[in-house]
Amino acid sequence: MRYIGRFAPSPSGPLHFGSLVTAIGSYLQAKSKNGKWLVRIEDIDPPREIKGASSQILKTLEALHLYWDDDILYQSTCSERYYAALQSLLDKQLAYYCDCTRQRIHHLPDSLYDGFCRNRHLCQPASQQLAIRLKQTCPVYQFIDQIRGLQNVDKTNAQEDFIIHRKDGLFAYNLVVVLDDHQQGITEIVRGADLLPVTAKQISLYQLLDLPVPTYCHLPLVLDNNGNKLSKQNHAQPLVLNDLTTATAQALQFLGQIIPGNWQDASQQQLLDWAIEHWDLTKVPQQNSLLSTNVR
Ligand code: GLU
Repeated sequence: MRYIGRFAPSPSGPLHFGSLVTAIGSYLQAKSKNGKWLVRIEDIDPPREIKGASSQILKTLEALHLYWDDDILYQSTCSERYYAALQSLLDKQLAYYCDCTRQRIHHLPDSLYDGFCRNRHLCQPASQQLAIRLKQTCPVYQFIDQIRGLQNVDKTNAQEDFIIHRKDGLFAYNLVVVLDDHQQGITEIVRGADLLPVTAKQISLYQLLDLPVPTYCHLPLVLDNNGNKLSKQNHAQPLVLNDLTTATAQALQFLGQIIPGNWQDASQQQLLDWAIEHWDLTKVPQQNSLLSTNVR
């Protein structure tokens, strides 16, 4: 089976160094396996979207010479397919409507949902949108991450009936990420370690839908001086387009890879080709860390 990987940014702002690490890590893992690398724009959450961010992200990827294979998938164009999947889960009674308030859930231990509406058989009233939850019948308590090894999942977390359609009418990330990774034939998911906590939920959904489960690699997060993940929400600096080769060398170093001594003389393409040839997943650190700006 041919390797297919992906990079799936949300257009909530321009790429920053943290997203560069994820883009490069997923790209190199795919290309070192002679695989395809796809890009999916996760634009299912309009309130969090910044106008122009998707085209800015794609321009930066092109400037980095991170060229994607096949057409880009925009989640905003996939609602019909998502509705069909949602309806099929409801029809099979693998999902149910829930009218619990955020406040009620907030008061539950660890704010994890207790299945209150599981057997209430609520219907969607015309006047108000209700959330839809997955009836968790396939909890996943353990999985293997190719970088971090065996991951154990807290029991209540694994068993939670999580939201797959929000009460504001938007599809939940945990549902569509699984539907799309399957639709695009993704064989391995390489992404940031901030998504480790939801991975078991996503694996359980593959199992419930009887779909093949991809393998997972969670890359270390880049932290700022306060120990927070660099993110668009924390206003991380956008990448500066005129020095992408330095940023690429820094990302390679962050990912534990060796860098050619003369990287400063290399073109962006030469540096990437070198990195594909020398990519070693076993060298990727298991810990999140601060960015060191000195490239050695
Ligand atoms: N769209 C998510 C993000 O930008 C990534 C989702 C994923 O890789 O599964 O953080």
